[in-house]
Amino acid sequence: QAKEEGRCTYRFYTPSLTRAAKERLALEARLRRALANDEFVLYYQPQFETDSGRLIGCEALARWRSPEEGLVSPARFIPLAEETGLIVPLGEWALRTACAQGMAWLKAGFPQMMMAVNLSGRQLRNPELANEVKAVLEQTGLPPQQLRLELTESIIMDQGTEAVERLQTLKALGLGLSIDDFGTGYSSLAYLKRFPIDELKIDQSFVRDIPEDENDMEIAATIIAMARNLKLEVIAEGVETQEQLDFLRRQGCRGCQGYLLGRPVPATDFERRHLSPS
Ligand code: C2E
Ligand code: MG
Ligand code: MG
Ligand code: MG
Repeated sequence: QAKEEGRCTYRFYTPSLTRAAKERLALEARLRRALANDEFVLYYQPQFETDSGRLIGCEALARWRSPEEGLVSPARFIPLAEETGLIVPLGEWALRTACAQGMAWLKAGFPQMMMAVNLSGRQLRNPELANEVKAVLEQTGLPPQQLRLELTESIIMDQGTEAVERLQTLKALGLGLSIDDFGTGYSSLAYLKRFPIDELKIDQSFVRDIPEDENDMEIAATIIAMARNLKLEVIAEGVETQEQLDFLRRQGCRGCQGYLLGRPVPATDFERRHLSPS
């Protein structure tokens, strides 16, 4: 009986698994082609000082301009790029492009600001990462103090003591390190002391339901207070309403990023909307 059920289940699942696998392979091939054909672009989202409203930086976010599908969100291609290892060349492209853009804005006379670039676990595991980052900084000319690399808690926790060394090597280049999606990972707070971190980014899931969700308000306030005590900078992601902004300001959250203040946009739009010569 059980055997028969098993066989039934097997027969039922095979075609759909095969289809999923085929789709994955096709997507992987298209991603490879996209990288070769220069179909990826970076969008830039502004980051502001909460109190003054001054622009303090931007985050570079990858998009895929697919000839067939139009603009594809990173939620669709980053996980696969990560699995296949394609994230390494893609990540290097993103770093290089973002640094070159940051330098171009600096040369054009716009006020100095941070350029934040996301880093994947695979990239951190690459022993050549620090050398590559160093080369990109030298080749583009962007001052290392203006580069900030964003990593998630899980990336750091997964890689243990090796991560500490890699992060220290990166820090030694003069750049800043930021914990992305803070509060959603393993949340072992001990690592905050061990890792050479400069900034916490409060995950948007804690910001989204302010002021309806009192727990979220409590969590956000706690992260802000903790950052202050540990002498870390703190920025909130996903700020969509004036109420959320007011709450974060009252709590003393230094930075804010979100649709209320500016969506991720192509470089030319970013320039037009957010930059004016100093
Ligand atoms: P992330 O680094 O946490 O980036 C923040 C995400 O929140 C971005 O999504 C951004 O567009 C979105 N966001 C910003 N403000 C708001 C808001 O007010 N409301 C809402 N609902 N969303 C907001 P995006 O651009 O789709 O990127 C998703 C994720 O993909 C990023 O999360 C990051 O983990 C990853 N990613 C993007 N570009 C790269 C890249 O170049 N390299 C790597 N490794 N990962 C990347
Ligand atoms: Mg990020
Ligand atoms: Mg985030
Ligand atoms: Mg995220």
